[in-house]
Amino acid sequence: MDSVKNEVKTYPAYLTGEWRESQSQKTIAIKSPWKHEVIGNVQAVTQPEVDESIQAAKEAQHSWAKLSLGDRGQYLNRWADELEEAKDDIATSLMNEVGKNFKSAEGEVQRTIDLVRYTVQEALHMHGQSVRGDGFPGGSKNKLGIIERVPLGVVLAISPFNYPVNLAASKIAPALIAGNAVIFKPATQGSITGIKMIQALDRAGFPKGILSLITGHGSEIGDYLTEHPGINMISFTGSTQTGKHLSQKSIMIPLVLELGGKDPAIVCDDADLDKTADNIVKGAYSYSGQRCTAVKRVLVDDKVADELVAKLKEKVENLSVGSPVNDSAIVPLIDDKAADFVQGLIDDALDKGATLVSGNKRDGNLLQPTLLDNVTEDMDIAWIEPFGPVLPVIRVHSVDQAVEIANKSNFGLQASVFTQDIDKALEIAGAVEVGTVQVNGRPQRGPDNFPFLGVKASGMGTQGVHNSILSMSREKLTVINLKP
Ligand code: NAP
Repeated sequence: MDSVKNEVKTYPAYLTGEWRESQSQKTIAIKSPWKHEVIGNVQAVTQPEVDESIQAAKEAQHSWAKLSLGDRGQYLNRWADELEEAKDDIATSLMNEVGKNFKSAEGEVQRTIDLVRYTVQEALHMHGQSVRGDGFPGGSKNKLGIIERVPLGVVLAISPFNYPVNLAASKIAPALIAGNAVIFKPATQGSITGIKMIQALDRAGFPKGILSLITGHGSEIGDYLTEHPGINMISFTGSTQTGKHLSQKSIMIPLVLELGGKDPAIVCDDADLDKTADNIVKGAYSYSGQRCTAVKRVLVDDKVADELVAKLKEKVENLSVGSPVNDSAIVPLIDDKAADFVQGLIDDALDKGATLVSGNKRDGNLLQPTLLDNVTEDMDIAWIEPFGPVLPVIRVHSVDQAVEIANKSNFGLQASVFTQDIDKALEIAGAVEVGTVQVNGRPQRGPDNFPFLGVKASGMGTQGVHNSILSMSREKLTVINLKP
């Protein structure tokens, strides 16, 4: 299936149910962020191949939607079985391609297998409604409305590099179970892993054309996909910049956007500081902070700031740094550009008077975990998502000031509140403008049965298995006018 040139594989794209080299005869080299060598090549798919894939998807979708829910569920369960068979291979690919440590990579694949099976179960337990007309003043009891959910058609699923397995399957599985066909565009850095997932789906024997995998740079093929009249819904996870662009390009179709974040950890003066520090360090630095729900700023009450910073420093300096094969918490960032960006934010903060508590050392794209104290609102790091292993601490005088700074951000994904006073926790939770508030815990996407959403520049619409199925289907009302 894969051709090998000089030990480096060239992977075909999966178009209309076939593994093919693109007519473009162009490939994209995928370089490992930590091996610093090319680990494979993927196809740069052309516009006519996109047209063909969308046409095949449309045709396949009609008969797919006619299958019983149970039958569609069996295909998906077979995919989960195949993913399980290929678990080590997919996890290794994930580690090589995006530099996630092996334990986390394996965890992501397992979580995805669970998500696919859960999605089937969730759909099997969802049902429609019926309603009588006489519920409305003057309405007739003889009108019986049957409300069912029907698929939207062809769903475009676009995923980011940082969770190439989970964030792809969390779109593909609900789309398919709801009766849609899928055009899957993985992040370029992450597309070998995407290909391996789809090889598993192919082995599960899905009908030809029901899913095509379009590899290629988003900057080249993205707009063509987004604006394509054959696409009926887009589910996108990625940066706010790309998400905004997509929302301008797409034309009158439903759009779910899960975007960037600047999640604050608000630490009150009565917090359990050991537990808080533990959560903040795990939340901020795991996978080098390349997570949408990483803790990206600490807003701590002056009264406990010295003590918290001392505890954070100790934990940060104990983080393992190095290679993903050794299960290090801190691994090389996805590329040099990302590392330069994070370094720029650190330099700006230090130039403007932030205190360096720990870190600020760099070897190429491997950055030591960096902790900055006394960060102020004039520093870029107070507002910008670094997507790297740096955490700014902003000291505040009151809960009100913490909430004010939390809400001044354009982002609104999640927030954490650390306090032992449940009334205070709920008051803060009510005041912060985010999708989710975690009380005494770090921000987190999941468990996957929870709703997951961002507000403001962090997104639009809701994911989580149940909500994803809803967002990829619509209501259809049939009214039976009974005899009077
Ligand atoms: P990105 O650069 O925005 O890329 C995301 C996806 O969009 C990739 O597949 C990319 O393809 C594609 N793309 C680029 N330009 C496009 C265009 N014009 N039209 C259509 N698609 C296009 O984001 P990333 O660097 O991969 O991921 C990191 C970001 O994602 C962070 O901001 C993070 O917070 C966010 N994120 C959010 C969540 C959440 O659920 N809220 C979860 C994870 C990550 P190429 O790779 O080919 O450019």
